[in-house]
Order: sequence, then structure tokens, then C-alpha cells
Amino acid sequence: MARDLLALSDGLLSGEIRGVDNQLLSMATSNELVSLGDDLAFVESFANVTAIRSGGELTLIDAGSVLYAKEVHRAIRSWTPNPLTNAVYTHGHVDHCFGVPNFESESGHPKTNVIAHEALPARFDRYKLTNGYNGVINMRQFRLGAPIFPDEFRYPDEVFTDSASITVGEVRIELHHDKGETDDHTWAWLPDQKVLCTGDLFIWVSPNCGNPQKVQRFPREWAAALRKMEDLGAEMLLPGHGLPIAGADNVKMVLSDTAEFLESITAQALELMNSGARLDDLIHDVKAPEHLLERPWLQPIYDEPEFIVHNIWRLYGGWYNGNPATLKPSRDAEVALEMAALAGGANVLAERAIELADAGDMRLAGHLIEMAALAAEDNADIQDTRAAIYRKRIQSETSLMAKGIFGWAEHESTNAAKALREGSPEQ
Ligand SMILES: [Zn+2]
Repeated sequence: MARDLLALSDGLLSGEIRGVDNQLLSMATSNELVSLGDDLAFVESFANVTAIRSGGELTLIDAGSVLYAKEVHRAIRSWTPNPLTNAVYTHGHVDHCFGVPNFESESGHPKTNVIAHEALPARFDRYKLTNGYNGVINMRQFRLGAPIFPDEFRYPDEVFTDSASITVGEVRIELHHDKGETDDHTWAWLPDQKVLCTGDLFIWVSPNCGNPQKVQRFPREWAAALRKMEDLGAEMLLPGHGLPIAGADNVKMVLSDTAEFLESITAQALELMNSGARLDDLIHDVKAPEHLLERPWLQPIYDEPEFIVHNIWRLYGGWYNGNPATLKPSRDAEVALEMAALAGGANVLAERAIELADAGDMRLAGHLIEMAALAAEDNADIQDTRAAIYRKRIQSETSLMAKGIFGWAEHESTNAAKALREGSPEQ
């Protein structure tokens, strides 16, 4: 029995339903298909897929992830046997564009016309160049056991620059490009049905606009795209991740709130940059508006506002952060050894790190334990302390991205301590 996704969505937006883990919702993998009218269906997956059938044809907006393409194919085939004539990739992230070959390999199935923004093929090319890096960072971000990242992609057959439109039987689909989470984003608008497919420009959590380990994002352009969508009068929003949203007021509310969230962070960061501030000032002084941080659909549980600030600095500035010591720095380990010598030993730094962590200052504790561990790499007790501090730090963080990176550090030190005690080199 399919869950009522629209009722859940409605309850969350009105505040009647609370205590639901939006992280789980935004990363849902039920792969259940929900019919949203005669010609329209939505598959809840990681990432979601929208299907439109009409005139004996089928079009998909997004096509399933590298992990769930098979399940998405099965769900769509339970709804329609129509050949997949068109597929739109909202962007080239690997959770959105892996399902097409499952349809094309059906016997007698024609080749699908895959449509995407013109910047998308270059993304796939880059993924081939940085396959190892992407494997490692996704292990950190998603706590995977192995570096899994694809190196073969179903490239688009047709690309567009600003906008395009397709017609599936009776249904007209407008495609619009705006930068946002990526430089290759497309959002889709079905004017007759008043249905909006946002791709990842809306995902039920704080925008993935700061991701520490990934390439440039575009908060200002993202907000502008949301404002454009807000004016359409959409009655249904089908997001890249998370639940479908019904009702013009609900759609307008989430688009407007997310735009305001990005606009505020961008304006604050630019004001400080323009006044000559250092990156350090931006990191500590720019804050997301409190009233927006309370919204259930803007929780900083995947990405977070502080990381967006770094992206703004990178977008509009250079890589120099304003601190001259970091322009041509010593090796981190050299600084750590010097500090340990001044303090009276790496142990002193580690002990102070514990005190700071116990007092709740996880940021400062992080600096000191890194120095202690770098100054005394072969000290298993210090590795234990480092693991314990990051274990504690994970508890105090909200975002999957921060938890993933600190979790990786904990894992490194747990392994290092074990290897040191066993007297064998670290694996
Ligand atoms: Zn996505």
C-alpha cells in the first residue's frame, strides 16, 4: 500500500506533522510510484523521478540514480508500457541520470532522446577526470565502505542554452536553465497542468549550496531562479529530493523561503567582502535568518549555511583568505611541532583539546587535537583522543557533510591507534 506522500507533505508544511526526519525524507529510497493524475506520476527515490505519459509516449524528468535505476524502471513499467521517447536530466549529478539505458535495452525499444543543459556533457567529462577523487569524497560524505563512482555515462542527445520545450502527446513541457546547485541545472514547467519540477533547486532541506568537497555552486543565481518559479503560479512542486508539494500557497511558500535564505546569506557575505573583510570574518559573522532556520524544509541537516559562505568567497574572490600566514604556509606538521614544543609537548595540546571539547568548544578543540596528532603521529593515545574528540564532534553537528568529514577523521585515528598498538604499518 503506497504511503500518502501528499498528505505527509501537507502535514509537514502546515506544521500539523512534526518530528519527522527530513534527512530521511530527502534521501528516501522507497522507489514507490505515486500517480498524480491521468498523465503524471512521481517515483520517490534518491533522486526522485517524474514521469509523463501521453499520446503513446513516455517522458521522464530525471531518470534515476546509479544505485536505484533498476527499481525506478520497474516502478515506471508498472504504470505504463509506453516507449521512453524523451528524458530530461535536471543536472548531471549521478543520482539523477542513470535510468535511460534500462529502457533502451528493452526489446524493440527505440533510442531515447536525452535532453539536458549544454554544460552537462562537460560535467560527465570532468567526472571521468576526477573519478578517484569523487569516489573518496562520496565515501566521506555518505559514509560508504568503498569508493564507488561511475565512469560511464549516458550523454545527452540534445542540449539547450537558456530554454527549450517538448511535447509528449498532449502535454507541453517547458525546460529552463538556471545556475544554482550546479552550472548545468534545468527546471521544468508544465503550464497546462501547473506542475513545476525543480530538480535540486528545492530538496526539503537547507540548499546543497556549500558542499565542502565539491565544485562551485551559485547561490545568487539559485535565488533568482526560485523567484522566477514563484511567479508561475504552480499548483504542484515535484522536487529533486523529498516529498511532492501540492497547493499554490505551499509551493510559493517553500520557493520564497528558500530564495530569501540564499539572498540573505549572499548579501551578508558580499557586504563583508566588499568592506575588505577576511574569509574568517565571513565564516563567523554571516548567519542565516533565524526565522528561516526554523522552517522544517530549511533544516541544515544535509548542507549548511556556513559552507555556503565559503562558496560565495570562492565564487567572487580568489583562494587567498586574507590571513598572510596562509598565503605561503609552512607544512601543517611543522607548525604543529613548533606549537607542541612551545606548549611543553603534544600531550599538553591533546589534554587542552579534551578540556575544550568537554566545555563545548569543539572548534578550538579541533585545532588543538589536529596539532597534537600532527606533532606526534606515532602516539596511539593521542590518536585515541583525536578519535574521541571527533566522535563527540559528530554529535554536536547537524549536517551530513560535517558529520561525514568528522566521522572520516575519527575513523582515521581509530585505525591509526589500532595499527600503532599492533606495531604494524597502517593499512
Ligand atoms: Zn540530487
